[in-house]
Amino acid sequence: MSRIELFKELTDAFGPSGYETEVAGIMKKNFTGCGSVKMDKLGSVICTQEGDGPKIMFAAHMDEIGFIVQSITKEGYLRILPIGGWAEMMLLGQRVIVRSNGKDIPGVIGSKPVHELKEEERKKIPEFRDLYVDVGVSMGFDVKEALKIRPGDPVVPYSPFASLGNSLFLAKAWDDRIGCAVILELANKLKNLPHPNSLHFVGTTQEEVGLRGAQTAASVVNPDIAFAIDVSLCREYPGFVEKEVTERLKGGVAILFHDMTMIPNTKLRDFVINIAEEKKIPFHLTSVRGGYDTGRIHLHNIGVPSLAIGVPARYIHSHAGIIAEDDFENAVKLLTEVVLKLDNQKLNEILNS
Ligand SMILES: [Zn+2]
Repeated sequence: MSRIELFKELTDAFGPSGYETEVAGIMKKNFTGCGSVKMDKLGSVICTQEGDGPKIMFAAHMDEIGFIVQSITKEGYLRILPIGGWAEMMLLGQRVIVRSNGKDIPGVIGSKPVHELKEEERKKIPEFRDLYVDVGVSMGFDVKEALKIRPGDPVVPYSPFASLGNSLFLAKAWDDRIGCAVILELANKLKNLPHPNSLHFVGTTQEEVGLRGAQTAASVVNPDIAFAIDVSLCREYPGFVEKEVTERLKGGVAILFHDMTMIPNTKLRDFVINIAEEKKIPFHLTSVRGGYDTGRIHLHNIGVPSLAIGVPARYIHSHAGIIAEDDFENAVKLLTEVVLKLDNQKLNEILNS
């Protein structure tokens, strides 16, 4: 499978938090020949390449933000709950897929047409509890009976993968299927390279609802060092000031110096920055008002030196984000070099800070 086919397969896959099975299947298939594969009891997929050196965990979450059916109105409209962080303004008029009894049912988050909106309604963003999904409500059609939709059924955005030219790609769920693609490519690359480390490539579950799968996966791996590979933010909106904004598509791999869940181990951070500089791998330093899987992993046991690595993405937590293949490649390059330079001695230096 080509890289672009893999991007498409991963982003088109259905997998809100708690419903990652389809994505886990893609991960397992692509880990074939890369090491031993197992799962933890919350559904994370762990591919291991054994070595005598430090245990390095690479975590990328398989889940995407989505919704869950909360109730069905007497007319047949679906009330929904958010899974993960949504802004209501992103949602009106957007298409979704409801998965019910193994069947995918298309629908739309309905709203009144402009002709019917009062002046003040046009300026107002609806509250989540006022949103609803229309899966084809019509007279004499019993949605509950005919479609067998039930409270608890998962819902995701409908937004098929597209190439934009210039090696940019538009899709839903780059957060964090691009991280999944990074760890798959890393596992394939590193299986043939000499180094002493024990590598654990982990597709985690339930990140978007509070880094839950990262916790259980860390118990399986018990890592000495951990990296989360996830999306970071692009800040190049119309009118941005070029010299002040480094977070751009094709702006290199992002190294997170801060997020809401972790301040990274500074020795590990500087070790990675030095490698990027030495190997001339484009990178930028950034912070994000959110959290990454490392937020949970670095608290495992008596503590794990950890760092989050980002592939910059535009419009995350919406129906369609954009990433650049260059940034993906730089993330893979950087992490490959990190593995080649890590050993027990380096780990001791990092730990004796
Ligand atoms: Zn994420």
